Amino acid sequence: MARFQNRVVIITGGGSGIGATMAELFAAEGASVIIFDREAAVADHPGGRVVDVTDRAAVREAVAEIEADLGRVDVLINNAAIAADTPFLEVTEEQWDAEVAVTLKGSFLCSQAVLPGMIARRSGSIVNIGSVNGVQYLGNEAYSAAKSGLLSLTRSLAVRYGPDGVRCNAILPGTIRTPIWDQRLAAEPDRLEKVARWYPLGRVGAPEDVARAALFLASDDAAWITGVALPVDGGLLAGN
Ligand code: NDP
Repeated sequence: MARFQNRVVIITGGGSGIGATMAELFAAEGASVIIFDREAAVADHPGGRVVDVTDRAAVREAVAEIEADLGRVDVLINNAAIAADTPFLEVTEEQWDAEVAVTLKGSFLCSQAVLPGMIARRSGSIVNIGSVNGVQYLGNEAYSAAKSGLLSLTRSLAVRYGPDGVRCNAILPGTIRTPIWDQRLAAEPDRLEKVARWYPLGRVGAPEDVARAALFLASDDAAWITGVALPVDGGLLAGN
């Protein structure tokens, strides 16, 4: 399959974890993939660019250069996030601001930068990587609040820009083993085994589980799907 032949795809946070796997799968289906990430993470990737998604000027400059070089942006995956997993009473103001900024402000800035081109071509797809934390209590309050906000943004963009031919959907991943877990596992090595017991399908997810759903929502296979939040969660939200 080559669903993304001649298509330009931006993946934020694509230097690591789920984003890096998405970059591989989009490229395997013919896409020109551009990764926006922080310096260390993009070094190994051919389409990698150092772009802090919370920096409006950097985001605008990068999108303008991509549109000048490649002519268009067809797909934006808002995937960058940070999660500190600090008990609520110990969360600092700086930590709260940083977690909300990467997920929510970053998605706002990147969406606002690519939308004019998508609207002009009457074609485009934005996929926001949310979390089950955005719809169910699982701790990690700043991260969860930002992920809830991202779902509101998803609905807003879907309804506002649907008439312009632009779709916007979200994915709600459950627990996925990626570097975001490294710090937590250092403190509690068997945590993922315990967490796996929450899931009706009996395991935590792999980056590919989320990446395949992102490719579907970004592709023409989902041409009449917009404004949805698709759980990719081994059944967690159905009950446990
Ligand atoms: P990773 O930490 O592996 O990847 C996130 C990437 O985003 C990192 O490369 C990170 O860089 C980058 N990033 C952070 N801040 C910025 C910024 N300001 N500008 C640009 N890039 C930035 O995370 P995952 O792959 O685990 O997560 C991917 C997405 O999936 C996130 O939205 C996450 O919330 C979501 N998700 C993940 C789950 C999981 O269990 N893994 C569960 C539910 C949702 P750096 O390494 O320098 O911080």
